[in-house]
Amino acid sequence: MNLLKKLQHRVGVALTPAEHYERAFSQGVLLGHHKFAAATELFERAAARAERAGEVELHRQAHANALLYRFLSGGSPQVLSPLHTALGALDQIEAVGSRSDHMSASLLRHEVSGRLAEATVAVTDEADHLQRAKLHRSAAHSFHEFGGQPLSTYGLRPDGMALDRGDLRGFFHDGLARFHEALDRARHDPASAAEVMNGALVALYQTPAQAHRATAEGWLERLQTRRSCWSCRREFAGAGLHYHSISATVHGHTVEVLRQAGHDLASVDLDAQTVVLCTTCSSSINALADAQAQRRVAELRVEFQGHVAALQRELEMLNRRVTALSERAS
Ligand SMILES: [Zn+2]
Repeated sequence: MNLLKKLQHRVGVALTPAEHYERAFSQGVLLGHHKFAAATELFERAAARAERAGEVELHRQAHANALLYRFLSGGSPQVLSPLHTALGALDQIEAVGSRSDHMSASLLRHEVSGRLAEATVAVTDEADHLQRAKLHRSAAHSFHEFGGQPLSTYGLRPDGMALDRGDLRGFFHDGLARFHEALDRARHDPASAAEVMNGALVALYQTPAQAHRATAEGWLERLQTRRSCWSCRREFAGAGLHYHSISATVHGHTVEVLRQAGHDLASVDLDAQTVVLCTTCSSSINALADAQAQRRVAELRVEFQGHVAALQRELEMLNRRVTALSERAS
């Protein structure tokens, strides 16, 4: 490169679209992560010049790289959708952080697709287990395309999960898809939900996601635990979901009566002073208690209003007496 060309390249004047494209690497990408924002602007400039010059292929490359480096330099996840589209128009793209190495654009597109599903999960209602399961399944499908290969973007834009290989992230999302499917089933079929939760754990055991494993293990235990209701004596599975422990006075004699009758001793807890009530029994007791409380509030209101009226009458009487006394004094 002669001196004039070097100078043009340094300041970015009188360059061809291809030279602008090269400049995005030399003045941005190849200088490291802190220069990725600069690379984004240079790729955008190269894309604009290429489009004006009718260089379709170069425009596509520069446009896709502008979006990729905008995301990697901390841009909004909203950039993922146009990046996914842009990668669809390419066969190859430079490997992240490199000018000379290339990778399959469709493979990077799978990673972006997984990232898109992750970004959508982050804004999905936590109680919408079916939708969350669907998104995690879609992410799992995208990441399993990588097998055991490393992913391209998580090292440079980490999400705190230490799942930088396609298979690890695939198993993680597979586990979470089953986890949410289990929670969706738990309301109507805790036994089948426990089977699905077990499948979630098998997938999560392949990953280092310890906190998620512990949560799934806790749920599996809750789904498998069965207790008889103190009130209706029917047996339910699903602690905290289909039955609850409620404060009550429990004597040693209570336990003895249950023992002699051959009933479920776990439906009372002498130490904790609680009894087990199924959700239906506890909700009907709550409804009764609410109705009683409301009735008492209404009674107290009437009583209080009576007192206020009596006080007002006394006050008016006092007022009249004070007025009469002051008139007499004057
Ligand atoms: Zn019951």
